[in-house]
Amino acid sequence: MYNKQCFDGSLPFVAVIWAERITQPDGTPANAIYVPGDAVLRRRYIAIDGRLSGMFPLERLCLFDEMIHVKLGPESGHGEDFIAEFKRALDANKWEVMGCIDASPQKPASPSPV
Ligand SMILES: [Zn+2]
Repeated sequence: MYNKQCFDGSLPFVAVIWAERITQPDGTPANAIYVPGDAVLRRRYIAIDGRLSGMFPLERLCLFDEMIHVKLGPESGHGEDFIAEFKRALDANKWEVMGCIDASPQKPASPSPV
């Protein structure tokens, strides 16, 4: 959904899964992570900590953050280009991702099926 609203549908298909626990390669825990496909693991995916499920808009924010990484590349940090793209994408759907809803009422937030 956000791919269409915020990125003009430009992002490639990426599976999104709930994870029990996420540990980054360096051993630190994370709320969400984008794993680009590699030689072993062909499929790329975004994993989000299942404990964030239903905690709107936290889980969306994590998803959104990872979607920006999908767009900018897995090596992208959170520098200026990341922030600029984050802002652009937020503006694209009027910050609805953040739970800022001014216009018509939205369907209740529910974790999308994965
Ligand atoms: Zn990030």
